[in-house]
Amino acid sequence: MATSQPLSSPTTDRIHVFWHDGMLAHDAGTGVFDSGIDPGFLDVLEKHPENSDRVRNMLSILKRGPISPYISWQSGRPALIPELLTFHTSGYVNELVEVDRNGGKMICAGTFLNPGSWDAALLAAGTALSAMKHILDGLGNIAYALVRPPGHHAQPTQADGYCFINNAGLAVQLALDSGCKKVVVIDIDVHYGNGTAEGFYCSDKVLTVSLHMNHSSWGPSHPQSGSVDELGDGDGFGYNLNVPLPNGTGDRGYEFALTELVVPTVEKFRPEMIVLVVGQDSSAFDPNGRQCLTMEGYREIGRKVRSLADKHSNGRLLIVQEGGYHVTYSAYCLHATLEGVLDLPHPLLSDPIAYYPDDEAFSIEVIGSIKQYHNDVVPFLKGT
Ligand SMILES: [Zn+2]
Repeated sequence: MATSQPLSSPTTDRIHVFWHDGMLAHDAGTGVFDSGIDPGFLDVLEKHPENSDRVRNMLSILKRGPISPYISWQSGRPALIPELLTFHTSGYVNELVEVDRNGGKMICAGTFLNPGSWDAALLAAGTALSAMKHILDGLGNIAYALVRPPGHHAQPTQADGYCFINNAGLAVQLALDSGCKKVVVIDIDVHYGNGTAEGFYCSDKVLTVSLHMNHSSWGPSHPQSGSVDELGDGDGFGYNLNVPLPNGTGDRGYEFALTELVVPTVEKFRPEMIVLVVGQDSSAFDPNGRQCLTMEGYREIGRKVRSLADKHSNGRLLIVQEGGYHVTYSAYCLHATLEGVLDLPHPLLSDPIAYYPDDEAFSIEVIGSIKQYHNDVVPFLKGT
């Protein structure tokens, strides 16, 4: 052990990244943005925003970027149908199997199950489960499931927002079924993690915290509003905390929300497992979001969540990929997030395009009032 391997320091870890090429086969097609419809007005149609290019770049930046020595690559696998039933109803799963058998269709707005999509969805679900199992089996503390199609909008009984199967929700349920008493899900995708919230809405064993753009309900597939008063039901009352952030919230606002709301709440909850649900659609350049995170903002989120894991869950942290639709910047922001998770002393990669101003003052005011509201009405936070 005399040689000085760069990764042998006790303060440096590897991130176990779970991936399977089969997830590239899901193709949501083209149209005007995510509509699937082309009225013929445009010469150049883009691909659907949830296309394989975005994830190919995430994959390549982890393989070829300066973070690559810190990555240990692991293979994903398809989920089995009984595994899907730990989060979804059999009626819903049967419906998807049937749609796939009949050649596919648009399930709800913007959400296309095409030939190849179902196999990719099974791979995304199984890959997230493998990543969680890796942690539960003690083979690594930090695992990242690089998966698509995304999952956090998928509810127990319906698809929504490009999502069919709730990959993170399945992983959380696996942790519970394996003996974890309390799991926290911190969702920083720019959209409300409504599917995950819905799945655990009546449970006090899973604290779901979602930081999102204040977009409210967007149709029948997404009836939840994401507002502060959706707090959970029954035993789960107070265990779904929504943090709707004003448009334009950037690095400082997210850092403030984590420091003021997320960190103290997680400290009171004392989870045995932490799941970070990441979407790079909170970045300043995302077509689906109106927030202003830069690479440094993502890096800080990674650092803060890592420090929560070190404090509460023996360093155990599962990261699950969700949205992020700018084909270049999503990859760079992912790189920065994982740099933060590694808690490296210096950034490994500079930001190629950060220049948008964010709205710090209004965000900070809103976060203060959300904190006051939580402390007034959530039993386990009262008097904080
Ligand atoms: Zn999103």
